Amino acid sequence: MNIILLGPPGAGKGTQARILVESRGMVQLSTGDMLRGAKDSGTELGDRVAGIMARGELVTDEIVIDLIRERIESAGEGGGFIFDGFPRTLAQADALGELLDSIGQHLDAVIEMQVDDEALVARITARSVCGNCGEVYNDITRPIPDDGKCEVCGASDFRRRADDNEESLRKRLMEYYKKTAPLIGYYYAKGLLRTVDGLGDIGNVRDQIAAILDGGDERREIRA
Ligand code: AMP
Repeated sequence: MNIILLGPPGAGKGTQARILVESRGMVQLSTGDMLRGAKDSGTELGDRVAGIMARGELVTDEIVIDLIRERIESAGEGGGFIFDGFPRTLAQADALGELLDSIGQHLDAVIEMQVDDEALVARITARSVCGNCGEVYNDITRPIPDDGKCEVCGASDFRRRADDNEESLRKRLMEYYKKTAPLIGYYYAKGLLRTVDGLGDIGNVRDQIAAILDGGDERREIRA
């Protein structure tokens, strides 16, 4: 089963993707993580995208489509892909459809995570990430444990993302509404769109997504 988690920055896509990896053996493909990895390891690609990411702008379609193509082609048989932060433009969405087609696969659902903008700003400015394993913490909803160690890997190296500041967030939100939100209509028209209320706590959102994946939600039958 292949799905897209779609939503603005801070909607909780990464957190839910990690839960699905754990619980269902799915493969998370996060273009944001791939690009941060390239940046941290100082590759030529990383140098090229660092400034764009810090400003909260989108990198070119060509770069992220190439990254996704490589990962899809090298992935073995697994529990399916979770696309997290990809696609973000209509051109990327078209390319993803073609890529999946070329390996005889298709998308099963596009899950839109709805969260209002004020909650996003509060969430993002409170967010920190384990520098070792990438587990996401939040000063409000999921504070770093009292012993200062990551619950997943035990490391004590917590970081704020360079682009988790108000100015960059404003730009990221604008990019989302201008370039990514049109994908909601695109996937609705293909009969793939499902919506969850992303404002609930992590367990509540996890359950809403599970109901969709297990076929418990009411499906919209308007396949294009
Ligand atoms: P994320 O971790 O998904 O919030 O992504 C962080 C940043 O990486 C974004 O603000 C963009 O600069 C870049 N990025 C990640 N995914 C994409 C994508 N699919 N298309 C263009 N830029 C992306």
